[in-house]
Amino acid sequence: MAVCPRCATELPEGYGSVCPACGFVVRIPGVMKLALTLLAAGFAVAIVWTVQADTLFGWLWGMINAIIAQPLGLRPAPFELTGVLKVLYDFLFGTPSQPPWGGVLLIAAGILVGFAGGVVLRRAEAGAPSSA
Ligand SMILES: [Zn+2]
Repeated sequence: MAVCPRCATELPEGYGSVCPACGFVVRIPGVMKLALTLLAAGFAVAIVWTVQADTLFGWLWGMINAIIAQPLGLRPAPFELTGVLKVLYDFLFGTPSQPPWGGVLLIAAGILVGFAGGVVLRRAEAGAPSSA
């Protein structure tokens, strides 16, 4: 049974994210998890961009080649990106001259969802004492 860390009231199942007794925010609501996920994905893309996506994917391809392709005697084509895939790849991970717009968008979306989550939390906190 979960207990509120502030007032030690036992929390019923499905109480939401706010303690019904004292209004303490106990759980992180789904919208905040979504915001954190988007931010994490955006920063992951930013990290990939700083270490160079081509280097990372080339290294990954080398790993796959060494672990899977060679023991099975396969001879796959070398790692190459063409056409639309290359455009998408450059958009998401950036190039040495272009920032990773996909990552920038993910971070921006994460911040926006985080703000929305903050509003939801504040409403939940404000509504808790009256509904309890
Ligand atoms: Zn409480």
